[in-house]
Amino acid sequence: MSDWSKVTRPIPVPNEWTRPFWDAAKRGVLALQRCQQCGHFQHPPYATCVNCVAPDLAFEPVRGEGAIYAYTIMYHTGDKRFASAVPYASIIVELDDAPGALMAGNLLEAPYTEAKVGRRVEVMFQSLNDDITLPQFRLAGARG
Ligand SMILES: [Zn+2]
Repeated sequence: MSDWSKVTRPIPVPNEWTRPFWDAAKRGVLALQRCQQCGHFQHPPYATCVNCVAPDLAFEPVRGEGAIYAYTIMYHTGDKRFASAVPYASIIVELDDAPGALMAGNLLEAPYTEAKVGRRVEVMFQSLNDDITLPQFRLAGARG
């Protein structure tokens, strides 16, 4: 299984659009941007709704359960910071509560061979430092 403990990730830098997402993640809450006009969820955040172009957007909490929509297995160590985790699975997740809003993450706490389209996953939170907590995923029901 991938050893993520030795990986030093690049740290995301929140901006005016993404700050609420990161603030929620720090509290252990997955919150995605939702259009208050048409109800469409979108991720990553934008200035306007990608469905109806309304500027009236808000972040709403979602349960963080969903299915793998797509995945890729990283075998190369081109970025040496990730060498201890190779091979590992990078996944795209479609959340039950926010259809259409696809989230990227890694599949943690499971062999990379467990990444399959349609597999059920749930969000987990990986603290990167005092300010940034990264939403990640593990197989659903894996909570110990
Ligand atoms: Zn909309």
